[in-house]
Amino acid sequence: MIRIFLTVISIISCTTLTIAQDDVTRLVGSLLADTPIEEDLRELCDEIGGRVTGSKSNERAVEWAYQKFVDAGVSAVKDPFEMPILWLAEGSSCRVNEIDFEPLVVSKYNTEPGSYSGQLLYVGKGTAAELDAIGNEAIAGQFLLVESDLCLDINGLFAEYAHATTVEMEAYHRGAQGIIFMSSRPNKVLYRFLTAMVTADNIIPQLVMAREDAMRCVRSIQSGKKLSIDMTIAAKTGPAFTSHNVIGEIKGSERPEEIIVLGAHIDSWALGTGANDNGCNVNLMIDIARQMQQLGIKPKRTIRFALWNGEEQGYFGSWDYTKEHEAALDKHLMALSVDIGSGAINGFFSNGRAELVPIVNEVLRPVAALGDFTQVNAPIVGTDNFDFMLQGVPNLVANHLPQVYGQNYHATSDTYDKVDLRQLKINSAIIGALALGFANLDDEKASTLTQQNRTEIQNIFDDFDLEFTMRMFDVWEPWVKEERGLKSK
Ligand SMILES: [Zn+2]
Repeated sequence: MIRIFLTVISIISCTTLTIAQDDVTRLVGSLLADTPIEEDLRELCDEIGGRVTGSKSNERAVEWAYQKFVDAGVSAVKDPFEMPILWLAEGSSCRVNEIDFEPLVVSKYNTEPGSYSGQLLYVGKGTAAELDAIGNEAIAGQFLLVESDLCLDINGLFAEYAHATTVEMEAYHRGAQGIIFMSSRPNKVLYRFLTAMVTADNIIPQLVMAREDAMRCVRSIQSGKKLSIDMTIAAKTGPAFTSHNVIGEIKGSERPEEIIVLGAHIDSWALGTGANDNGCNVNLMIDIARQMQQLGIKPKRTIRFALWNGEEQGYFGSWDYTKEHEAALDKHLMALSVDIGSGAINGFFSNGRAELVPIVNEVLRPVAALGDFTQVNAPIVGTDNFDFMLQGVPNLVANHLPQVYGQNYHATSDTYDKVDLRQLKINSAIIGALALGFANLDDEKASTLTQQNRTEIQNIFDDFDLEFTMRMFDVWEPWVKEERGLKSK
């Protein structure tokens, strides 16, 4: 149990309190005091565990979260949506024949299960120049063993995404049979690799091999040995199926039709237990809803606490929500995503909507003592704010100090013990203040939170040069073809 010794008085920066500010004070005070957040997180991580959408444990997590809202007296629904395919890992194995060695490997999501054999071809970092030097004839049909830089933080993570996407494109066009990436994390940490599919028909197997094991193979190859591998990728696959978001709601007292959505995804990969990604913020949402309800706080506008599902495979739950509520999106004043672990919140990404920045600054004033906040007006692709951005809804993503998020991202090591529990409570107070601040915003300021049209949304993508990033996540073409996001009418 973590106690945070902050007096409520110390976080109030003004002397005359309006009722709305008083509610913020009470909410923040109660979130910083003892709440069940740590025990809830322990249940989710340790007793339910990793929860890939489509798995039994994911269904258990949905029931668990729904019950948490119900027990808190918060009205909640299990909101169904369709996942396009089922893919649940059942383990992969690999054997390097010439040195009789079985390195640890993990395949990327949606890799075709089966047995594969081929030469292991070390290609350095797999740059175009390195691959040119080897020649496409030597590359065709082989497994490329690609060196990775160590991923030390979140910047390392973004660099890894960009690197892997480039390698994937090169390998695919040169006819490689598959790619084996050296793990970017030491000590045999493995992780479920990113879902990027730079071309829809690119289904060549891609794996991560334990860093130390990959280095052993590289040393053998560099000593002059030719290495071949036999590999089995096992996964349970299936057609489209129904999954559920869990959405808790506290109805607005004056403008119930106007909506503030706060979201964190309940699904995770299952090598670890989805603690920092994103169990901690699921529990942050539940805790805010519970404390608001307990204190009888009635926001002016409706607040929805969305525990999205199917995020890791391509934010299918939040995408579906934007389709289902398409007609009401002009009444969605703000959609927030919290998905970067439990490091200190140091501001918010305003995703190309500069007009959000002064409002965020204002609503954070009551919690100024809880952090050093700088808003960054850059768009985030890769989590549940994305389809709101694609629909022109004002959207935010919480920014955090990296803590240990990058190193444990999607990894065997993303477990309860990596969560900064003390900071998680402070983060919940910050998000609570932000949520109430938006929900209680005066009407004039709220009227600036409008839905953009398709041209304005496209302008953000152009201004921030987002095409490559969107391709990385396989969302560029669906946007261009108007299969995803706001249509041009
Ligand atoms: Zn996440």
